Amino acid sequence: MNLQIGVLGASGRMGRTVCEAVIDDADLDLVAAVDPLNVGLDLRQVTGLPSDLRVSAAPSKPQHDGVEVFVDFTVRDAAMNNLRWCADNGVHAVVGTTGFSDEDLRELREIFVNSNCLVAANFAIGAVLMMRFAELAAPWFDSAEIIEMHHENKVDAPSGTAMATLARMREASDEWLEDPTRKQLLEGSRGGIDSSGIAVHSVRMRGLVAHQEVLLGTTGQSLTIRHDSYDRCSFMPGVLLAVKRIATLPGLTIGLEAALGI
Ligand code: NAD
Repeated sequence: MNLQIGVLGASGRMGRTVCEAVIDDADLDLVAAVDPLNVGLDLRQVTGLPSDLRVSAAPSKPQHDGVEVFVDFTVRDAAMNNLRWCADNGVHAVVGTTGFSDEDLRELREIFVNSNCLVAANFAIGAVLMMRFAELAAPWFDSAEIIEMHHENKVDAPSGTAMATLARMREASDEWLEDPTRKQLLEGSRGGIDSSGIAVHSVRMRGLVAHQEVLLGTTGQSLTIRHDSYDRCSFMPGVLLAVKRIATLPGLTIGLEAALGI
């Protein structure tokens, strides 16, 4: 029998994309669409997808008895309430919502006992591999710079993925050359450099989606690792993978790495 999937945040940008990906997957059935927006409308009206499933306001019993995995792309506060419901009702959760605090993650680790929860800040498999490759390469190079490039509406910098890449490269090596710059003609031209010596540059530009390059250099050679997300659908293979593997990942899992086996 197909896995029975519910989507929390089904009216949102990511939620709609997840609904479509689930409907298109021959091994999954979309059986619940939850969002306080568009309650009572069916998915055909909300998204144009070929589904008569009606949007409901919140996960509830007995309406959502059949759901085996809920996917959550909402906002932090809503997600925490949704996840408490999943934990209480023994439903697995795959979560893409961002903005959880360490305290939130501690709570999720405690409450997911009878079902499992995977939280990943980035479901793009290529981006997860980019971070892993950068971490593997780090000990073999002397200099590194990260250039992240995003659309013109992104308000925070650097991106979460750039900061996660930086943290993992620092963890893998603490032997980076000191920045040689002593005079900057334009302030900020060397990007943001933390105590490790790795510089991070943020580009914001209309036409871009989400892109990152990791540049590593050593004697007579350099290595460039680049990942590009062109569309929200870039996250779907990772979401579907997590949905299919969540039953085998006990308790709370952070990041997609465990689902990928890396
Ligand atoms: P969005 O604003 O388009 O959608 C969020 C939806 O959640 C809205 O429709 C809203 O009505 C709904 N919602 C609010 N409260 C709810 C509740 N209690 N129950 C159910 N639904 C509720 O936002 P988006 O662009 O789809 O992004 C959603 C989240 O996903 C954000 O946190 C974003 O940072 C994150 N995100 C993660 C990844 C990743 O790879 N992990 C990728 C893209 C976006």
